[in-house]
Amino acid sequence: MAGLSDLYQEILLEHNSKPHNFKKVEEANQTADGFNPLCGDQITLYLKVVDGQIDDVGFQGTGCAISRASASMMTQSIKGQTLERAEQIFDAFHHMITEPGAELDLDTLGDLETLSGVNEYPTRIKCAILAWHTMKAALSGESEVTTE
Ligand code: ZN
Repeated sequence: MAGLSDLYQEILLEHNSKPHNFKKVEEANQTADGFNPLCGDQITLYLKVVDGQIDDVGFQGTGCAISRASASMMTQSIKGQTLERAEQIFDAFHHMITEPGAELDLDTLGDLETLSGVNEYPTRIKCAILAWHTMKAALSGESEVTTE
């Protein structure tokens, strides 16, 4: 990923080589599969939601470094959060990735800000957003989502 700063590269590489929550959640009650045909990224997301709160989350799948790093960071950021908060994080991330130059909600984004450089690479946006759309799909009861 030429152009991303060294710091961004480092964080992406770390999440890619050691993704967080890379596991199947046996007690998951909301799951969805996501697919990004543009790049071939594929993800299965597992959510265990209890009383409006994301008690546990995990993902499995194959894909490029950006998709894996984004999925890893996504699971970290939504774990333990309420559904309402997860929605806010989704919105902040979506805004950051799809609207270059937009003002960022850094309080909500936290470490996710490290993926902001992706918005300069239109073909990579689908990779970064895949896990997030899959999360939305799982929470709204859809079992599959494909980025277009
Ligand atoms: Zn990809």
